[in-house]
Amino acid sequence: VNVLIVFAHPEPRSFNGALRDVAVATLRADGHEVEVSDLYAAGFKAVADADDFALRADSTYLCIDLEQAAAQEAGTISPDIRAEQGKVARADLVVLQFPLWWFGPPAILKGWFDRVFTRGFGYRSGCKYDTGLMRGKRAMLSVTTGTSADTYAADGIDGGILDILWPIHNGLLRYTGFEVHAPNLVHMPHRMSDTERAAELQHYASLLHQIDDQPTLFFHPSSDYGTDERLLAHVTPASGFQHRAKQPSPIDQDGPS
Ligand SMILES: Cc1cc2nc3c(=O)[nH]c(=O)nc-3n(C[C@H](O)[C@H](O)[C@H](O)COP(=O)(O)OP(=O)(O)OC[C@H]3O[C@@H](n4cnc5c(N)ncnc54)[C@H](O)[C@@H]3O)c2cc1C
Repeated sequence: VNVLIVFAHPEPRSFNGALRDVAVATLRADGHEVEVSDLYAAGFKAVADADDFALRADSTYLCIDLEQAAAQEAGTISPDIRAEQGKVARADLVVLQFPLWWFGPPAILKGWFDRVFTRGFGYRSGCKYDTGLMRGKRAMLSVTTGTSADTYAADGIDGGILDILWPIHNGLLRYTGFEVHAPNLVHMPHRMSDTERAAELQHYASLLHQIDDQPTLFFHPSSDYGTDERLLAHVTPASGFQHRAKQPSPIDQDGPS
């Protein structure tokens, strides 16, 4: 498959860099085509603003999504955005590699979301969730944290990690139509011994060797929601992981019973 790894860490020798390198090596060894977007190395512009639009649809009032749609339609979207969109379009699997910063992605990666997933490319009217423009593609987050797995347990002080990652898992990936793999998480790599870090890298390589078998996150299908976009009364709210081969939505022990 074609894989895009989006790497958002300012230090190539970081543990995030090591995870990226393992992913590239493992996936290529398994015969996959791998592209990498190294956002810091590329100096990727992190803010969506007027400079993204050489030609304005409305020069009197800046409405980003209106300008994005117009530029997408006219083919005048800025070259750095177009290049990233080309990579996303080619990819069957998108891996986002980043450290958790203030409970979210580094700003440069948030900017990649804001600027690349334009109205017209990432979404448009009537195309979201089950009918999202990215359907048929898969995505996975590979994330490091500064605190422990316990702090990110459901009852942990930082809050459940799937809640923390929900804005990306659901707000970006599921919304635009991706099937979303369970994330690869490495907690506190800076506190680990070299042996423990090597084991984490080995674990990630093993996971990637069997990427097709990795569980995916369960999201309710659009048909579970009413016209008010709230769950229908007879539908039991669910979350967690499901195994890809089994349909519909049998949820394993990590999910609800
Ligand atoms: C602005 C900011 C906000 C933050 N907010 C949060 C937050 O909200 N929640 C939270 O949990 N954390 C937070 N953090 C902490 C952050 O998530 C961690 O610092 C980060 O995840 C650690 O990953 P790293 O790649 O930067 O580690 P690094 O410190 O780069 O690496 C850890 C160790 O791994 C070593 N290493 C590198 N390559 C290899 C290799 N190939 N083999 C073995 N070892 C290797 C490095 O030399 C280093 O000793 C924040 C940090 C910042 C700067």
